[in-house]
Amino acid sequence: MSILVVMEQRGGEWNRMSWETLAAGQQLGRDLGVEVSAAVLGQSIDALAAELGGKQLAKVYAVEHELLAEYTPDAFAAALRQLAAQSGAKVVLFPHTYQVRDYLPKLATSLSKVAVSDVIGHRVENGKLVLVRQLFQGKVNSDTRFASDGPNLASIQAGAYRADLLETGSAAVEKFTPQISAAEVRTKPQERFRESARAVDLGAAELIVSVGRGIKEEENIALVQDLAKAMGAELAASRPICDAGWLPMERQVGSSGQTVAPKLYMAIGISGAIQHLVGMKGARTIVAINKDANAPIFEVADYGIVGDLFQVVPELIAALKK
Ligand SMILES: Cc1cc2nc3c(=O)[nH]c(=O)nc-3n(C[C@H](O)[C@H](O)[C@H](O)COP(=O)(O)OP(=O)(O)OC[C@H]3O[C@@H](n4cnc5c(N)ncnc54)[C@H](O)[C@@H]3O)c2cc1C
Repeated sequence: MSILVVMEQRGGEWNRMSWETLAAGQQLGRDLGVEVSAAVLGQSIDALAAELGGKQLAKVYAVEHELLAEYTPDAFAAALRQLAAQSGAKVVLFPHTYQVRDYLPKLATSLSKVAVSDVIGHRVENGKLVLVRQLFQGKVNSDTRFASDGPNLASIQAGAYRADLLETGSAAVEKFTPQISAAEVRTKPQERFRESARAVDLGAAELIVSVGRGIKEEENIALVQDLAKAMGAELAASRPICDAGWLPMERQVGSSGQTVAPKLYMAIGISGAIQHLVGMKGARTIVAINKDANAPIFEVADYGIVGDLFQVVPELIAALKK
């Protein structure tokens, strides 16, 4: 029994959720008493593999091939199918990124296995792994146990595990060259859409100021924008703000928007509907400003200010500028 964590990088930059998934792998490894290895896929990835080698791992697989330089579901699934066999891992963990969501079902199907997506926690019962995931927009947690020996696949939701708990160490890097032919890769990556290249990655933001319907008018958005600027934070919003077109959809947090896990999430004039909470309750520290003391957002907030945002926010900006 061993665990393999598949990291995600693009152009030599890690996707931050990879580190959280690696932390999940280390915790599972400790709780099950098994070895944990990690893999990075791409081309010219020596520096990334060496960085991984500085973590507490049994082994690092540098999975290199020219057909892995750009992401395609065919090449990634082919490479990972071969790596799963080579590593002998019984559990393979992935960050729950858009890319993983794209290729994981294909990989699972090609292995005749089930992929458990969006895992938020785990425990060990009688030596067996139990994975926890949410159902019904986060209203219910469900337990999942693997029926087969593996390789069993699971993706880890953003913010479920803490990357700052990663243990450092020293692991040997092993090169793995998968057999992939150009003929089996049916898609040709083109340049990224300009919108998508411009898109904010709220998942990677450390500070987020998020605004809800309490802001009342489009022209008032400038107020929270000023606060975000003064804090060096990304601006986000609840769904009604994006539905109204006051901020772009890419800034929506929640079940039909992005899942975020910043160090600080400031919810301003947001009631805390379950569809919003599932997208941000993994934040390390949550601050809520709301004039309704009974707003559900205060149930998840670490700090709360019951007050009128039109009074509180200007005072916060003034204090920050001081
Ligand atoms: C299938 C589905 C998917 C959804 N997906 C999402 C999603 O991804 N993200 C999302 O956010 N929502 C989503 N929703 C919508 C969600 O149910 C809520 O309607 C939404 O989150 C409410 O947004 P809000 O908190 O900004 O507005 P409201 O619920 O209207 O809350 C506004 C808050 O502002 C406070 N307020 C008002 N004036 C002031 C003031 N002057 N000072 C301080 N506080 C003030 C009020 O007390 C209130 O708590 C989804 C709904 C469905 C059905």
